[in-house]
Parts: sequence; structure tokens; C-alpha cells
Amino acid sequence: MSTKFQAVRGTKDILPADASQFQYLEAVALSLFSRFGFEEIRTPTFESLELFQRAMGSTTDVVQKEMYVFEDRGERKLALRPEGTAGVVRAFIEHHLSQTHPFCKLFYIGPMFRAERPQAGRYREFWQIGAEYFGNAAPTADAEVLVMLRTLYQVLGIKDAKLKINSLGCSTCRPTYTKALIDFLNSQRSELDEDCQKRVDTNPLRALDCKVDGPRLEAKAPDIARFWDAECKDHFETVKALLTSAGVVYERSSRLVRGLDYYSRTVFELSSSVLGAQNALAAGGRYDRLVKEMGGPDIPALGFALGVERTLQALAAVRPQAPEVEGPVFVAAMGDQPAAEAFKLLTLLRLSPELAKAGVRVEGGFFEKKLGAQLGMADRLKSKLCIILGEDEVKNGKVTLKNLGAGSQESILNAELIPRLLNRS
Ligand code: AMP
Repeated sequence: MSTKFQAVRGTKDILPADASQFQYLEAVALSLFSRFGFEEIRTPTFESLELFQRAMGSTTDVVQKEMYVFEDRGERKLALRPEGTAGVVRAFIEHHLSQTHPFCKLFYIGPMFRAERPQAGRYREFWQIGAEYFGNAAPTADAEVLVMLRTLYQVLGIKDAKLKINSLGCSTCRPTYTKALIDFLNSQRSELDEDCQKRVDTNPLRALDCKVDGPRLEAKAPDIARFWDAECKDHFETVKALLTSAGVVYERSSRLVRGLDYYSRTVFELSSSVLGAQNALAAGGRYDRLVKEMGGPDIPALGFALGVERTLQALAAVRPQAPEVEGPVFVAAMGDQPAAEAFKLLTLLRLSPELAKAGVRVEGGFFEKKLGAQLGMADRLKSKLCIILGEDEVKNGKVTLKNLGAGSQESILNAELIPRLLNRS
């Protein structure tokens, strides 16, 4: 009995039609991010478990419940990366990038792994495009990264993407806020759901993030803005002013606290109303202490990650009709010797720089089939033109060019073929 294999729950195949969407998004991001001075970095998909525990904080949901953890044959404790920042920070430190670069701007594209409950827009393996900016504590860096992220969605035509920002203060002012928040949450304890009660003890800021109680708590909870010290307040005000001057529309949300421990000062989230319950497109913030805490130099940093699948979902909603792509020029042959010539021609046309430049694709190679079957294939591929080689054509140094749309055909010299294909007639 044969086993029917299927993609593992929470994972999916990216079939050619989807892959071309991935490529499109990647190309747009690559072109935009490079104009902002970001260079690509590729880090491993698995790292030591401890790296993620240290970077993300052991009380976060991702580290506690969602990581794919395993032991390799050398009994090393490893984890599939649930996000990109920890690995990029490790690489930044390991390769002493701060010594060779006055500042360092990196971006990555790759799959991430989280053992979450799968649902629409939430997978166990999903792709992120992220950017990290090391070595600039100034609000201009925050604004620069936000302008870049916002522009990406504008270029894509996802106009409804809504930007929310907040500041989490710093290690000087945040503890006073956290204490006030814990006092407040304890006063509400009996009304909180079980998960939220746990968060009060382990990671109180995250109670505001709670889907059930968060919105209700927001109105009554102390606002972190009242606790910012002068520097944090200044920093945030400048970020906001820079965004406004760059024409970036945003909303401040006191509830925005982000799920990971490493953030300080600016945090942000971009969401889209065209997505369902999982409406976050991208998220990020500043993490000034992380590089040092991970054993590196005292270098400030910030970054974001966007969800590729969700961004493509939002893109499909605003651009439902993909333009129909013209099929390839099809090469068919009848007989053994013509088949050998046809193969030569197929290769020659595929390697022609002029055709490549004009975006003309060439298909064929099914020469053992009857001509009718070959033409049927061309039809299914939506080819407009078919080149046919038979004994006579080979003898006379000619080909038959059949226009599949009009049903007409003519005999032309080999030398005329490429110019005719460039004319698509
Ligand atoms: P995070 O690293 O949790 O801040 O997530 C950044 C972005 O990645 C989110 O805004 C989503 O667009 C996307 N994302 C996070 N988790 C998932 C998931 N399980 N499946 C699909 N996309 C995700």
C-alpha cells in the first residue's frame, strides 16, 4: 500500500504562481532597501537554543511555547529560528561588523518557524523580510526605517496599511511604569482571563497585548507616556516630527508593547484591514541594549520584520487580476533529422540575447510526439507562434512559422526568424 504524503500541518508549498509573487515582492524590497543603504545578510535557519532564549527573553510566548527545539547528534540543543533578529545580531557580533562599518544596515529574506496554531495567515513555517540598522541611536534612524517600510507598502499599492507607533521608554524610566502597570493590573486581577493573569506575573507589559482583555485595559491602564524621562520623550517627539515632515501618517497607540523583551523606545506595527484576524503585516522597534546583552559592543540598533505571506495576501486583495502573460514561442518538429535540428534551434533561440531582452520565452522538445499533439501543447501554453521543422524545411534552410491565433502559416528563411519573433508576428 502506498503512503499518501502531504505537507506537514502549518507548512505549505509555494507553487510557481505563488513563487512569482514572492519574487516580485523580494525584488521590490531589494531595490528599495538598497536605495536606503541596506545590504543583504543570510544567516542559518537553526541556531543554538540559548541564542533565542537570551535574545528574545525566556518569558515570551515564542520562546516558551512556539519554538521547534531539537537535539542534534552531538547532543547540542538547537532551535529552528522563530525570527531573524537574534541570528543577525549574533552574526553582527561574531564577525565584528562594528569594527569595519561606522554603522551597519542589513536586511534578510527567509523562512521562520513557530509552532503556533495554524489558521488563515498564520503558519508554522512562514517567510519574513526584515531589516536591522546598527549604530545609530538618533531618532532619524527610527524615522528612516519607518519611511522605508511605509514606502514599500506604497510602492506595492497596499494603501490601507496603517502604522501604529509607541515608545516603551528605556531602562531608566520603564521600571517606574512597569510598577504602576503591575499595581493597576493587580487591582483588576479578578476580571482578567487566565492567560492574562499569568502575564501579570511573568511579563506584565504583555497583558496589554492580550487579545481578550487588552482593548478594555487600554482605556484604564496608566499610559506609559506619563512615565517617559525627558530623553525618551524628546526622542519620541522627534521621531513623530520627522515622520510628519516625510508625509508618513501614523497613530500613537499606548497599547502597542510588542511581544519580545528586547525592545526599548520606539516600537511600531503596520496592519491592514483587508486581512482577517491576523491583520499584522509588519512589526519592529528599537533594541538599544540587545547587542551588548548578547556579548557584543554597546551599540544601539533597531529593525523590523514583515510577513511575506500576509503582505502577498494584502497585495492580492488590491490587485486581484494578474495580467495574462503571453505564452512561449513553441518549437515543433516532424521526423528524426528535423528533431535534431529543432533541438539546436530551440537552444539557439533560448540563448539569443535579443529575444531574452525582449522577454520572449521559447519552449519545445516534445519532438517524438505527433505534430498535432505538439500543437495541442502549444495551445495549452497560450503560445501565439509555433515554429515547425520538417524534412523540407531542413533541406531548404527554412522554417514554417505558424500563427496559432490567426491559423495562418508561412515559410521563412532561418535568418529571418529572430527579427520575426521580435515582431511577434
Ligand atoms: P513578529 O516577528 O512576531 O513581530 O512578526 C512580524 C510579522 O511576521 C508579522 O507582522 C506577520 O506579518 C508575520 N508573522 C508572524 N508570525 C507569523 C505566522 N505564524 N505566520 C505567518 N506570518 C507571521
